[in-house]
Amino acid sequence: MEKSKDGYLGIYAPDLRYRFETENGEMWAKASLYRALLAYYDFTKDKNVLKAVERGVQNVMDNCKINASTPYIAHAYGYGICHGLAFTDVLDQLYQLTHDSKYWDYALFCYKDFSSHDIIVESKDIQYKNIMNPDYRLRGHTAHSTEHLRSLLVAAYASGNPQLAEALSIYMKRLKELTTISGGIIGDEWIYGRKVDHTLIGYEYCTMLETLDAYTQYIQKTGDIRYADEVEILLFNAAMGARHPEKSAVAYLKTDNSYFMNRTLNGMRGNSRYKYSSAHQDVAVCCNPNAGRIIPYYIQNLWLKDKDGFIASMFGGCEVNTLFGKQPVSIREITDYPHSNRITFEVEVKKPAIFALKIRKPAWNKGFTLDTDYKEEGAYLIINRKWSGKSTFTLEWKAEVEKHEIAGEPYFTYGALVLALPVEATEIPGRIYKPGFQDFDYIPKNFTLYMHAGNEIPVKDGDHFNVNLYNPILQKMEQKTLVPMGHTLLRQVTFRKNTE
Ligand SMILES: [Zn+2]
Repeated sequence: MEKSKDGYLGIYAPDLRYRFETENGEMWAKASLYRALLAYYDFTKDKNVLKAVERGVQNVMDNCKINASTPYIAHAYGYGICHGLAFTDVLDQLYQLTHDSKYWDYALFCYKDFSSHDIIVESKDIQYKNIMNPDYRLRGHTAHSTEHLRSLLVAAYASGNPQLAEALSIYMKRLKELTTISGGIIGDEWIYGRKVDHTLIGYEYCTMLETLDAYTQYIQKTGDIRYADEVEILLFNAAMGARHPEKSAVAYLKTDNSYFMNRTLNGMRGNSRYKYSSAHQDVAVCCNPNAGRIIPYYIQNLWLKDKDGFIASMFGGCEVNTLFGKQPVSIREITDYPHSNRITFEVEVKKPAIFALKIRKPAWNKGFTLDTDYKEEGAYLIINRKWSGKSTFTLEWKAEVEKHEIAGEPYFTYGALVLALPVEATEIPGRIYKPGFQDFDYIPKNFTLYMHAGNEIPVKDGDHFNVNLYNPILQKMEQKTLVPMGHTLLRQVTFRKNTE
Protein backbone atom coordinates (compact mmCIF):
# COMPACT_ATOMS: atom_id res chain seq x y z
CA MET A 1 0.00 0.00 0.00
CA GLU A 2 1.29 3.42 -0.99
CA LYS A 3 0.64 6.63 0.92
CA SER A 4 2.13 10.10 0.71
CA LYS A 5 1.84 13.64 2.05
CA ASP A 6 -0.67 14.73 -0.57
CA GLY A 7 -3.19 12.27 0.92
CA TYR A 8 -2.76 9.51 -1.69
CA LEU A 9 -3.82 6.11 -0.37
CA GLY A 10 -3.67 3.44 -3.03
CA ILE A 11 -1.53 0.79 -4.69
CA TYR A 12 0.66 2.75 -7.14
CA ALA A 13 4.07 4.35 -6.86
CA PRO A 14 4.15 8.15 -7.50
CA ASP A 15 5.20 7.87 -11.17
CA LEU A 16 2.21 5.65 -12.05
CA ARG A 17 -0.67 7.33 -10.21
CA TYR A 18 -3.66 8.52 -12.28
CA ARG A 19 -1.74 8.05 -15.54
CA PHE A 20 -3.69 5.20 -17.09
CA GLU A 21 -5.35 4.84 -20.43
CA THR A 22 -6.00 1.15 -20.03
CA GLU A 23 -6.63 -1.54 -17.42
CA ASN A 24 -5.65 -0.50 -13.88
CA GLY A 25 -6.63 -1.01 -10.26
CA GLU A 26 -6.49 2.58 -9.04
CA MET A 27 -10.16 3.03 -8.16
CA TRP A 28 -10.88 -0.64 -7.38
CA ALA A 29 -8.11 -0.82 -4.77
CA LYS A 30 -9.22 2.47 -3.25
CA ALA A 31 -12.88 1.33 -3.11
CA SER A 32 -11.88 -1.86 -1.27
CA LEU A 33 -9.45 -0.16 1.14
CA TYR A 34 -11.60 2.86 1.93
CA ARG A 35 -14.72 0.76 2.57
CA ALA A 36 -12.72 -1.22 5.13
CA LEU A 37 -11.31 1.97 6.70
CA LEU A 38 -14.80 3.48 6.96
CA ALA A 39 -16.05 0.29 8.63
CA TYR A 40 -13.13 0.60 11.06
CA TYR A 41 -14.06 4.24 11.71
CA ASP A 42 -17.70 3.25 12.23
CA PHE A 43 -16.62 0.77 14.90
CA THR A 44 -13.89 2.80 16.67
CA LYS A 45 -14.92 6.42 15.88
CA ASP A 46 -11.19 7.10 15.34
CA LYS A 47 -11.34 10.49 13.58
CA ASN A 48 -7.82 10.08 12.14
CA VAL A 49 -9.09 7.18 10.03
CA LEU A 50 -12.03 9.20 8.70
CA LYS A 51 -9.68 12.07 7.93
CA ALA A 52 -7.31 9.76 6.01
CA VAL A 53 -10.20 8.55 3.84
CA GLU A 54 -11.40 12.11 3.22
CA ARG A 55 -7.87 13.13 2.20
CA GLY A 56 -7.57 10.06 -0.03
CA VAL A 57 -10.82 10.95 -1.79
CA GLN A 58 -9.79 14.61 -2.10
CA ASN A 59 -6.58 13.39 -3.74
CA VAL A 60 -8.70 11.57 -6.35
CA MET A 61 -10.79 14.71 -6.88
CA ASP A 62 -7.63 16.86 -7.28
CA ASN A 63 -6.08 14.50 -9.83
CA CYS A 64 -9.23 13.49 -11.74
CA LYS A 65 -11.19 16.73 -11.94
CA ILE A 66 -14.94 16.45 -11.86
CA ASN A 67 -16.48 16.66 -15.36
CA ALA A 68 -13.01 17.27 -16.82
CA SER A 69 -11.30 13.87 -16.67
CA THR A 70 -11.96 10.25 -17.61
CA PRO A 71 -11.09 7.94 -14.68
CA TYR A 72 -13.06 5.06 -16.23
CA ILE A 73 -11.61 5.09 -19.73
CA ALA A 74 -9.99 1.92 -21.07
CA HIS A 75 -8.80 1.06 -24.53
CA ALA A 76 -8.77 -2.67 -23.86
CA TYR A 77 -9.53 -5.24 -21.14
CA GLY A 78 -10.92 -3.34 -18.14
CA TYR A 79 -11.82 -5.76 -15.34
CA GLY A 80 -10.20 -3.61 -12.63
CA ILE A 81 -11.68 -0.43 -14.08
CA CYS A 82 -15.14 -2.00 -13.92
CA HIS A 83 -14.79 -2.99 -10.25
CA GLY A 84 -13.50 0.55 -9.66
CA LEU A 85 -16.95 2.04 -10.24
CA ALA A 86 -17.73 0.75 -6.74
CA PHE A 87 -15.70 3.77 -5.54
CA THR A 88 -19.17 5.33 -5.40
CA ASP A 89 -19.74 3.21 -2.24
CA VAL A 90 -17.07 5.29 -0.51
CA LEU A 91 -18.46 8.57 -1.83
CA ASP A 92 -21.96 7.68 -0.66
CA GLN A 93 -20.75 6.72 2.81
CA LEU A 94 -18.75 9.95 3.11
CA TYR A 95 -21.83 11.92 2.06
CA GLN A 96 -23.85 10.18 4.77
CA LEU A 97 -21.16 10.91 7.37
CA THR A 98 -20.42 14.55 6.43
CA HIS A 99 -23.50 15.70 4.40
CA ASP A 100 -21.01 17.38 2.06
CA SER A 101 -22.63 17.29 -1.38
CA LYS A 102 -19.25 17.22 -3.17
CA TYR A 103 -19.15 13.48 -2.53
CA TRP A 104 -22.51 12.83 -4.17
CA ASP A 105 -21.61 15.19 -7.04
CA TYR A 106 -18.45 13.18 -7.66
CA ALA A 107 -20.36 9.86 -7.47
CA LEU A 108 -22.70 11.16 -10.18
CA PHE A 109 -19.67 12.14 -12.26
CA CYS A 110 -18.19 8.63 -11.83
CA TYR A 111 -21.40 7.02 -13.12
CA LYS A 112 -21.64 9.48 -16.03
CA ASP A 113 -18.00 8.93 -17.00
CA PHE A 114 -18.41 5.14 -16.82
CA SER A 115 -21.58 5.41 -18.94
CA SER A 116 -19.99 7.66 -21.54
CA HIS A 117 -17.21 5.42 -22.86
CA ASP A 118 -17.90 3.25 -25.86
CA ILE A 119 -15.01 1.03 -24.97
CA ILE A 120 -14.23 -2.57 -24.27
CA VAL A 121 -15.18 -2.69 -20.63
CA GLU A 122 -15.97 -5.96 -18.92
CA SER A 123 -19.55 -5.04 -18.25
CA LYS A 124 -21.64 -2.42 -20.01
CA ASP A 125 -24.89 -3.51 -18.37
CA ILE A 126 -25.12 -0.42 -16.14
CA GLN A 127 -24.36 2.11 -18.89
CA TYR A 128 -27.30 4.49 -19.24
CA LYS A 129 -27.71 3.99 -22.98
CA ASN A 130 -27.91 0.22 -22.53
CA ILE A 131 -30.45 0.44 -19.72
CA MET A 132 -32.67 2.67 -21.88
CA ASN A 133 -32.36 0.34 -24.88
CA PRO A 134 -35.42 -1.98 -24.63
CA ASP A 135 -33.69 -4.65 -26.74
CA TYR A 136 -30.60 -4.84 -24.51
CA ARG A 137 -30.18 -8.00 -22.43
CA LEU A 138 -27.85 -8.16 -19.44
CA ARG A 139 -24.67 -9.96 -20.46
CA GLY A 140 -21.87 -8.76 -18.22
CA HIS A 141 -19.81 -10.31 -15.42
CA THR A 142 -22.55 -10.70 -12.79
CA ALA A 143 -20.45 -9.36 -9.91
CA HIS A 144 -20.11 -6.11 -11.91
CA SER A 145 -23.74 -6.08 -12.97
CA THR A 146 -24.88 -6.32 -9.34
CA GLU A 147 -22.30 -4.08 -7.60
CA HIS A 148 -22.94 -1.38 -10.24
CA LEU A 149 -26.56 -1.18 -9.11
CA ARG A 150 -25.26 0.73 -6.09
CA SER A 151 -23.51 3.27 -8.35
CA LEU A 152 -26.67 3.88 -10.37
CA LEU A 153 -28.65 4.16 -7.13
CA VAL A 154 -26.31 6.85 -5.74
CA ALA A 155 -26.26 8.67 -9.10
CA ALA A 156 -30.07 8.70 -9.20
CA TYR A 157 -30.32 10.13 -5.68
CA ALA A 158 -27.39 12.54 -6.09
CA SER A 159 -28.92 14.03 -9.23
CA GLY A 160 -32.61 13.80 -8.41
CA ASN A 161 -32.91 13.24 -12.15
CA PRO A 162 -36.16 11.40 -13.03
CA GLN A 163 -34.45 9.83 -16.07
CA LEU A 164 -31.95 8.11 -13.76
CA ALA A 165 -34.81 7.09 -11.46
CA GLU A 166 -36.47 5.45 -14.47
CA ALA A 167 -33.18 3.76 -15.40
CA LEU A 168 -32.95 2.43 -11.82
CA SER A 169 -36.43 0.99 -12.04
CA ILE A 170 -35.69 -0.72 -15.39
CA TYR A 171 -32.43 -2.13 -14.06
CA MET A 172 -34.09 -3.57 -10.93
CA LYS A 173 -36.60 -5.39 -13.16
CA ARG A 174 -33.80 -6.79 -15.32
CA LEU A 175 -31.99 -8.18 -12.27
CA LYS A 176 -35.22 -9.68 -10.91
CA GLU A 177 -35.73 -11.56 -14.18
CA LEU A 178 -32.33 -13.23 -13.69
CA THR A 179 -33.00 -14.28 -10.09
CA THR A 180 -33.47 -17.96 -9.24
CA ILE A 181 -36.03 -19.13 -6.68
CA SER A 182 -33.33 -19.17 -3.98
CA GLY A 183 -32.41 -15.50 -4.65
CA GLY A 184 -29.17 -16.08 -6.62
CA ILE A 185 -28.69 -13.94 -9.72
CA ILE A 186 -27.39 -16.16 -12.51
CA GLY A 187 -24.01 -15.87 -14.13
CA ASP A 188 -21.29 -18.55 -14.02
CA GLU A 189 -19.05 -15.46 -14.04
CA TRP A 190 -21.05 -14.12 -17.01
CA ILE A 191 -24.72 -13.58 -17.85
CA TYR A 192 -24.28 -13.68 -21.65
CA GLY A 193 -27.87 -12.60 -22.33
CA ARG A 194 -29.28 -15.88 -20.98
CA LYS A 195 -32.43 -16.57 -18.95
CA VAL A 196 -32.63 -18.28 -15.55
CA ASP A 197 -32.04 -22.03 -15.46
CA HIS A 198 -32.12 -23.75 -12.05
CA THR A 199 -29.86 -26.63 -13.11
CA LEU A 200 -27.68 -25.40 -15.96
CA ILE A 201 -26.56 -21.91 -14.89
CA GLY A 202 -24.91 -21.24 -11.55
CA TYR A 203 -24.52 -18.11 -9.46
CA GLU A 204 -21.33 -16.84 -7.82
CA TYR A 205 -20.79 -16.20 -4.11
CA CYS A 206 -19.37 -12.73 -4.90
CA THR A 207 -22.57 -11.89 -6.76
CA MET A 208 -24.65 -12.79 -3.73
CA LEU A 209 -22.67 -10.40 -1.52
CA GLU A 210 -22.84 -7.60 -4.11
CA THR A 211 -26.59 -8.14 -4.54
CA LEU A 212 -27.28 -8.17 -0.80
CA ASP A 213 -25.24 -4.98 -0.37
CA ALA A 214 -27.04 -3.31 -3.28
CA TYR A 215 -30.56 -4.34 -2.23
CA THR A 216 -30.10 -3.22 1.39
CA GLN A 217 -28.84 0.16 0.16
CA TYR A 218 -31.80 0.31 -2.21
CA ILE A 219 -34.17 -0.24 0.74
CA GLN A 220 -32.36 2.43 2.78
CA LYS A 221 -32.63 5.05 0.02
CA THR A 222 -36.06 4.26 -1.46
CA GLY A 223 -37.90 2.89 1.58
CA ASP A 224 -39.15 0.11 -0.74
CA ILE A 225 -39.35 -2.54 1.96
CA ARG A 226 -40.51 -5.30 -0.45
CA TYR A 227 -36.85 -5.86 -1.24
CA ALA A 228 -36.30 -7.04 2.34
CA ASP A 229 -38.05 -10.27 1.31
CA GLU A 230 -35.60 -10.59 -1.59
CA VAL A 231 -32.65 -10.10 0.78
CA GLU A 232 -33.88 -12.73 3.24
CA ILE A 233 -34.54 -15.27 0.47
CA LEU A 234 -31.07 -14.65 -0.97
CA LEU A 235 -29.23 -14.97 2.34
CA PHE A 236 -31.09 -17.91 3.86
CA ASN A 237 -31.32 -19.99 0.69
CA ALA A 238 -28.80 -19.24 -2.10
CA ALA A 239 -26.05 -17.97 0.20
CA MET A 240 -26.43 -20.46 3.06
CA GLY A 241 -27.02 -23.15 0.44
CA ALA A 242 -23.62 -22.44 -1.18
CA ARG A 243 -21.79 -22.58 2.16
CA HIS A 244 -20.66 -26.01 3.38
CA PRO A 245 -23.04 -26.92 6.25
CA GLU A 246 -20.22 -28.31 8.42
CA LYS A 247 -16.78 -27.39 7.10
CA SER A 248 -14.91 -24.10 6.47
CA ALA A 249 -15.67 -24.03 2.76
CA VAL A 250 -17.97 -22.42 0.23
CA ALA A 251 -18.93 -23.10 -3.36
CA TYR A 252 -17.60 -20.53 -5.82
CA LEU A 253 -20.45 -21.39 -8.18
CA LYS A 254 -23.63 -23.23 -7.21
CA THR A 255 -26.93 -24.10 -8.88
CA ASP A 256 -30.30 -24.43 -7.11
CA ASN A 257 -30.61 -28.05 -8.32
CA SER A 258 -27.14 -29.30 -7.42
CA TYR A 259 -26.46 -32.96 -8.26
CA PHE A 260 -22.66 -32.97 -8.59
CA MET A 261 -20.09 -30.65 -7.02
CA ASN A 262 -17.03 -32.31 -8.56
CA ARG A 263 -15.59 -29.48 -10.67
CA THR A 264 -18.35 -30.01 -13.23
CA LEU A 265 -21.62 -28.28 -13.95
CA ASN A 266 -23.89 -31.02 -12.58
CA GLY A 267 -21.83 -33.83 -14.08
CA MET A 268 -21.66 -32.25 -17.52
CA ARG A 269 -19.19 -29.54 -18.54
CA GLY A 270 -15.97 -29.20 -16.50
CA ASN A 271 -15.69 -26.08 -14.31
CA SER A 272 -13.58 -26.16 -11.15
CA ARG A 273 -15.64 -23.36 -9.59
CA TYR A 274 -18.26 -26.06 -8.79
CA LYS A 275 -16.61 -27.50 -5.69
CA TYR A 276 -16.34 -26.66 -1.99
CA SER A 277 -13.14 -24.93 -0.92
CA SER A 278 -11.63 -22.83 1.85
CA ALA A 279 -9.93 -20.64 -0.75
CA HIS A 280 -10.62 -21.61 -4.41
CA GLN A 281 -7.00 -20.66 -5.02
CA ASP A 282 -6.93 -22.55 -8.33
CA VAL A 283 -9.60 -20.15 -9.68
CA ALA A 284 -9.62 -16.85 -7.76
CA VAL A 285 -9.71 -15.97 -4.06
CA CYS A 286 -12.70 -13.65 -4.33
CA CYS A 287 -15.72 -15.67 -3.22
CA ASN A 288 -14.30 -16.87 0.12
CA PRO A 289 -13.55 -13.40 1.54
CA ASN A 290 -16.86 -12.10 0.18
CA ALA A 291 -18.69 -15.03 1.82
CA GLY A 292 -17.22 -13.77 5.10
CA ARG A 293 -18.78 -10.35 4.52
CA ILE A 294 -22.34 -11.44 3.80
CA ILE A 295 -23.63 -12.07 7.35
CA PRO A 296 -22.12 -8.84 8.81
CA TYR A 297 -23.65 -6.86 5.92
CA TYR A 298 -27.01 -8.50 6.63
CA ILE A 299 -26.82 -7.78 10.36
CA GLN A 300 -25.85 -4.12 9.92
CA ASN A 301 -28.98 -3.59 7.82
CA LEU A 302 -31.48 -5.33 10.13
CA TRP A 303 -32.58 -2.01 11.64
CA LEU A 304 -33.31 1.28 9.91
CA LYS A 305 -34.26 4.65 11.34
CA ASP A 306 -36.86 7.18 10.25
CA LYS A 307 -38.22 10.36 11.83
CA ASP A 308 -40.77 8.39 13.91
CA GLY A 309 -38.37 5.81 15.34
CA PHE A 310 -36.93 2.47 14.27
CA ILE A 311 -37.75 -0.07 11.59
CA ALA A 312 -37.15 -3.82 11.85
CA SER A 313 -36.53 -4.25 8.13
CA MET A 314 -35.34 -7.86 8.25
CA PHE A 315 -35.15 -10.37 11.07
CA GLY A 316 -32.46 -12.20 13.01
CA GLY A 317 -30.99 -12.44 16.47
CA CYS A 318 -29.30 -9.09 17.12
CA GLU A 319 -28.82 -6.18 19.48
CA VAL A 320 -28.83 -2.53 18.39
CA ASN A 321 -27.68 0.29 20.63
CA THR A 322 -28.63 3.66 19.20
CA LEU A 323 -30.13 7.06 19.94
CA PHE A 324 -33.59 8.51 19.46
CA GLY A 325 -32.79 12.21 19.43
CA LYS A 326 -30.32 12.27 22.30
CA GLN A 327 -31.88 9.40 24.24
CA PRO A 328 -30.04 6.07 24.29
CA VAL A 329 -32.19 3.17 23.08
CA SER A 330 -31.29 -0.51 23.15
CA ILE A 331 -33.26 -3.11 21.17
CA ARG A 332 -32.66 -6.86 21.25
CA GLU A 333 -34.20 -9.50 19.00
CA ILE A 334 -34.16 -12.98 20.48
CA THR A 335 -35.00 -15.55 17.81
CA ASP A 336 -33.90 -18.55 15.74
CA TYR A 337 -35.32 -16.88 12.62
CA PRO A 338 -35.76 -18.11 9.89
CA HIS A 339 -35.86 -21.61 11.44
CA SER A 340 -38.43 -20.33 13.91
CA ASN A 341 -40.75 -17.44 13.09
CA ARG A 342 -41.12 -16.46 16.74
CA ILE A 343 -39.26 -13.27 17.69
CA THR A 344 -39.01 -11.71 21.15
CA PHE A 345 -38.15 -8.01 21.19
CA GLU A 346 -36.64 -6.30 24.24
CA VAL A 347 -36.65 -2.49 24.16
CA GLU A 348 -34.78 -0.61 26.85
CA VAL A 349 -34.53 3.16 27.42
CA LYS A 350 -32.69 5.07 30.12
CA LYS A 351 -35.31 7.86 30.23
CA PRO A 352 -38.94 7.61 29.05
CA ALA A 353 -39.28 8.42 25.33
CA ILE A 354 -42.06 8.36 22.73
CA PHE A 355 -41.16 6.70 19.44
CA ALA A 356 -42.47 4.10 17.02
CA LEU A 357 -41.18 0.61 16.29
CA LYS A 358 -42.18 -0.45 12.79
CA ILE A 359 -41.92 -4.14 12.03
CA ARG A 360 -42.00 -5.31 8.42
CA LYS A 361 -44.62 -7.89 7.54
CA PRO A 362 -42.88 -10.57 5.47
CA ALA A 363 -44.66 -11.19 2.16
CA TRP A 364 -45.13 -14.89 2.96
CA ASN A 365 -46.88 -14.39 6.33
CA LYS A 366 -50.27 -16.05 6.82
CA GLY A 367 -51.11 -14.03 9.92
CA PHE A 368 -49.39 -13.41 13.23
CA THR A 369 -49.77 -13.10 16.98
CA LEU A 370 -48.33 -10.15 18.87
CA ASP A 371 -48.77 -9.72 22.62
CA THR A 372 -48.73 -5.93 22.77
CA ASP A 373 -50.82 -3.02 21.36
CA TYR A 374 -50.11 -2.27 17.71
CA LYS A 375 -51.67 -1.02 14.50
CA GLU A 376 -51.26 -2.35 10.98
CA GLU A 377 -50.30 0.14 8.29
CA GLY A 378 -49.32 -1.00 4.80
CA ALA A 379 -46.27 -3.24 4.99
CA TYR A 380 -45.76 -2.69 8.73
CA LEU A 381 -46.95 -3.46 12.22
CA ILE A 382 -46.45 -0.28 14.24
CA ILE A 383 -46.00 -0.07 17.99
CA ASN A 384 -46.10 3.63 18.86
CA ARG A 385 -46.01 4.50 22.52
CA LYS A 386 -44.15 5.97 25.44
CA TRP A 387 -41.35 3.59 26.32
CA SER A 388 -39.87 3.46 29.80
CA GLY A 389 -37.45 1.06 31.43
CA LYS A 390 -37.42 -2.34 29.76
CA SER A 391 -40.35 -3.61 27.64
CA THR A 392 -40.64 -7.12 26.19
CA PHE A 393 -43.08 -8.44 23.61
CA THR A 394 -43.23 -11.47 21.34
CA LEU A 395 -44.28 -11.70 17.72
CA GLU A 396 -44.91 -14.96 15.88
CA TRP A 397 -45.46 -15.06 12.13
CA LYS A 398 -47.65 -17.88 10.86
CA ALA A 399 -46.18 -19.74 7.91
CA GLU A 400 -47.48 -22.54 5.70
CA VAL A 401 -45.76 -24.94 3.35
CA GLU A 402 -46.49 -23.44 -0.06
CA LYS A 403 -46.29 -24.98 -3.52
CA HIS A 404 -45.03 -22.78 -6.36
CA GLU A 405 -44.07 -23.50 -9.95
CA ILE A 406 -41.15 -22.38 -12.07
CA ALA A 407 -40.94 -23.39 -15.75
CA GLY A 408 -43.69 -25.94 -15.08
CA GLU A 409 -41.79 -27.58 -12.18
CA PRO A 410 -43.20 -27.44 -8.62
CA TYR A 411 -41.06 -26.36 -5.67
CA PHE A 412 -41.86 -25.67 -2.03
CA THR A 413 -41.24 -22.95 0.54
CA TYR A 414 -41.95 -22.52 4.23
CA GLY A 415 -41.72 -18.91 5.41
CA ALA A 416 -38.43 -17.48 4.14
CA LEU A 417 -37.03 -20.96 3.47
CA VAL A 418 -36.88 -22.79 0.14
CA LEU A 419 -37.11 -26.56 0.71
CA ALA A 420 -34.82 -29.11 -0.90
CA LEU A 421 -34.52 -32.88 -1.16
CA PRO A 422 -30.96 -33.68 0.02
CA VAL A 423 -29.03 -36.02 -2.31
CA GLU A 424 -26.77 -38.38 -0.39
CA ALA A 425 -23.18 -37.69 -1.45
CA THR A 426 -19.76 -39.31 -1.49
CA GLU A 427 -17.02 -36.92 -0.37
CA ILE A 428 -13.76 -36.74 -2.30
CA PRO A 429 -11.13 -34.82 -0.29
CA GLY A 430 -8.83 -32.54 -2.27
CA ARG A 431 -6.04 -30.04 -1.72
CA ILE A 432 -5.22 -29.19 1.90
CA TYR A 433 -4.28 -25.53 2.54
CA LYS A 434 -3.72 -26.15 6.25
CA PRO A 435 -5.47 -28.48 8.71
CA GLY A 436 -9.19 -27.66 8.67
CA PHE A 437 -8.96 -25.75 5.37
CA GLN A 438 -9.37 -27.94 2.33
CA ASP A 439 -11.04 -28.56 -1.05
CA PHE A 440 -13.84 -31.14 -1.31
CA ASP A 441 -15.69 -32.63 -4.27
CA TYR A 442 -19.04 -34.38 -3.94
CA ILE A 443 -20.75 -36.93 -6.19
CA PRO A 444 -24.18 -38.51 -5.61
CA LYS A 445 -24.37 -42.03 -4.18
CA ASN A 446 -27.61 -42.84 -6.02
CA PHE A 447 -28.65 -40.36 -8.64
CA THR A 448 -32.43 -40.29 -8.96
CA LEU A 449 -34.38 -37.28 -10.16
CA TYR A 450 -37.59 -37.47 -8.17
CA MET A 451 -40.86 -36.20 -9.62
CA HIS A 452 -43.89 -34.50 -8.13
CA ALA A 453 -47.23 -36.26 -8.45
CA GLY A 454 -50.81 -35.16 -7.84
CA ASN A 455 -51.43 -32.64 -5.10
CA GLU A 456 -48.69 -33.79 -2.73
CA ILE A 457 -47.66 -31.05 -0.30
CA PRO A 458 -44.85 -31.56 2.23
CA VAL A 459 -45.97 -31.84 5.86
CA LYS A 460 -43.90 -30.09 8.51
CA ASP A 461 -42.49 -32.38 11.20
CA GLY A 462 -40.18 -30.44 13.51
CA ASP A 463 -37.36 -29.04 11.38
CA HIS A 464 -38.01 -31.24 8.34
CA PHE A 465 -40.85 -31.81 5.88
CA ASN A 466 -42.24 -35.18 4.76
CA VAL A 467 -43.59 -35.63 1.25
CA ASN A 468 -44.38 -38.48 -1.15
CA LEU A 469 -42.41 -38.16 -4.39
CA TYR A 470 -42.34 -40.36 -7.48
CA ASN A 471 -39.21 -42.42 -8.16
CA PRO A 472 -39.14 -42.78 -11.98
CA ILE A 473 -36.50 -45.55 -11.88
CA LEU A 474 -38.43 -47.83 -9.50
CA GLN A 475 -41.71 -46.42 -10.85
CA LYS A 476 -43.30 -45.97 -7.44
CA MET A 477 -44.08 -43.31 -4.86
CA GLU A 478 -41.65 -43.01 -1.93
CA GLN A 479 -41.81 -41.04 1.27
CA LYS A 480 -38.96 -38.50 1.24
CA THR A 481 -37.83 -35.76 3.61
CA LEU A 482 -37.21 -32.17 2.53
CA VAL A 483 -35.06 -29.75 4.54
CA PRO A 484 -34.19 -26.04 4.16
CA MET A 485 -31.82 -25.79 1.17
CA GLY A 486 -29.37 -23.88 3.37
CA HIS A 487 -28.61 -27.22 5.11
CA THR A 488 -27.68 -29.11 1.96
CA LEU A 489 -24.65 -30.03 -0.15
CA LEU A 490 -26.20 -31.88 -3.11
CA ARG A 491 -29.94 -31.40 -3.54
CA GLN A 492 -33.00 -31.31 -5.74
CA VAL A 493 -35.16 -28.19 -5.40
CA THR A 494 -37.52 -28.30 -8.41
CA PHE A 495 -39.45 -31.44 -9.40
CA ARG A 496 -40.74 -32.36 -12.82
CA LYS A 497 -44.40 -33.39 -12.81
CA ASN A 498 -45.31 -37.06 -13.12
CA THR A 499 -48.55 -36.96 -15.06
CA GLU A 500 -48.94 -40.72 -15.60
ZN1 LIG B 1 -16.04 -14.65 -6.61
